[in-house]
Amino acid sequence: MKTDIEIANSIVPQPIETIADQINIPKEDLYLYGPHKAKLNLSLLKDQATKGKLVLVTAINPTPAGEGKTTTTVGLGDALNKAGRRTVIALREPSLGPVFGIKGGATGGGYAQVIPMEDINLHFTGDMHAITSANNLLSAAIDNHIHQGNALGIDPRRISWKRCLDMNDRALRRIVCGLGGPANGMPREEGFDITVASEVMAILCLANNLTDLKDRLGRIIIGENFAGDYVSAKDLQVHGAMAMLLKDALKPNLVQTLEGTPAIIHGGPFANIAHGCNSIIATKMALSFGDIAVTEAGFGADLGAEKFFDIKCRYAGLEPSAVVVVATVRALKYNGGVAKDDLGTENLEALEDGLPNLLRHLDNIQKVYGLPAVVAINRFPTDTEAELDLIRKACRDRGVQVALSEVWAKGSAGGAELAEAVLALLDKPRQFTFAYPVEAPIKEKIQDIVTRIYRGRAVVYSAQAEKVIRQLTAAGYGDLPICMAKTQYSFSDEATRLGAPEDFTVTIQDLHVSAGAGFIVALCGSILTMPGLPKEPAALGMDVNAEGEVTGLF
Ligand code: ADP
Ligand code: MG
Repeated sequence: MKTDIEIANSIVPQPIETIADQINIPKEDLYLYGPHKAKLNLSLLKDQATKGKLVLVTAINPTPAGEGKTTTTVGLGDALNKAGRRTVIALREPSLGPVFGIKGGATGGGYAQVIPMEDINLHFTGDMHAITSANNLLSAAIDNHIHQGNALGIDPRRISWKRCLDMNDRALRRIVCGLGGPANGMPREEGFDITVASEVMAILCLANNLTDLKDRLGRIIIGENFAGDYVSAKDLQVHGAMAMLLKDALKPNLVQTLEGTPAIIHGGPFANIAHGCNSIIATKMALSFGDIAVTEAGFGADLGAEKFFDIKCRYAGLEPSAVVVVATVRALKYNGGVAKDDLGTENLEALEDGLPNLLRHLDNIQKVYGLPAVVAINRFPTDTEAELDLIRKACRDRGVQVALSEVWAKGSAGGAELAEAVLALLDKPRQFTFAYPVEAPIKEKIQDIVTRIYRGRAVVYSAQAEKVIRQLTAAGYGDLPICMAKTQYSFSDEATRLGAPEDFTVTIQDLHVSAGAGFIVALCGSILTMPGLPKEPAALGMDVNAEGEVTGLF
């Protein structure tokens, strides 16, 4: 069997101008980054109505390996194009950190990939660099402001803004900066996040244009002053320079799939402390140049799709037409209690036990959000016919549409059944509604998410959470949408409660406001925003030869 990179390298990509031409993007609006990558002029959005139909790809609660949302998104896009419908894909940009950690990229797999995968997974068009720089300009401004006399009275013990780096590096999680005497600034406790966890990334993904981007950057809260009031990036007057650093990063990136389908890859925020989907601008461009836009949300539907609808679609004024819920035999068995290493063995009982997880997600999409949905069974080589039949039958018995997807093994040919099912959904009636009204008080919004989407019994708040809710409400942030930061493995806030747990409570330990991005993060426990490398990092197997040929990258 060929590896992903072998498959990717066996295809000769088309010039990016040819891909752009397919969707009527003129050459003048392309900023070329070599022959196969281009940034798109932002003015393209001004002249076009976003007329296409939006299809969201989401999934059941995943296993630690990832279940094939990106692969399905890419394969579905190819299959829809093959079926004669002009389709554009919108995806997130991979972060560099995980590339060297766990093996596996973020550009799809098998015969459903976006290319050039090497570039996309490494430096791509420099967006991560720009975000890192904008983030760290703000950090430098904070420490310089304190060093220069601290006119704003920033309390060095209450600075929440961290520096960032696009690398998995646990040693930087908590550090002390400014050591070495008065010439080197004021010592204080500091820490690094990975770049994709920076609020700047979330802002880039939610901004509608450059002015909106600048306004949002100005609203970033960096911490508190000695009086306990919030201090913003605007107070430090660096939001203009930050926006300047991001002016090219705000332009989405055009690439192609193995089969030549246009794919816009832009932005990639964390799916726990942020909202986990590509930029609004990328999705809108995909909708304006395609009759259909296919996009992906991170993690399972409880986190990814919920935030896609309640945060992104709300801010962007987008209305999805259909939802694909990716399920795999493996992830269903995992939800039925099978250990990660045993997922390759047939186990109909565990599969049956895992099914309620899928059915709950579907029910949420259809009943809470009012959208038509189809289950895509992403077929893995280890799946047995009996297992696939069991899922098909369970769905059909409940009147749920289901299609087998073999895009990983066969490309668009393996996605024909899914494409047909999706096309049938696009004309179905729908009544898109959010899970909660954004103007409701913070606790009511969290209550709605926990009871309507997770199906928990109640929400419990720590004393700290109670205090922050009062503080945020008093400061006028009560009417922002909620960004839940909880485990992706369970509907509940405990990673081990798999399947479709019932009668549980969700505990909110703490909250903070991402005032620039425009949401309140509700933390169910501590979330790591700077990953570490495993004992044997994937980096150990990577190399490049004298000709510049890469080996060991997936
Ligand atoms: P997600 O987007 O849900 O995280 P990906 O599409 O990135 O998942 O896939 C995760 C990993 O699983 C990738 O390495 C991909 O190549 C692999 N994969 C996806 N679908 C299949 C499949 N049907 N058979 C085998 N491997 C697959
Ligand atoms: Mg993915």
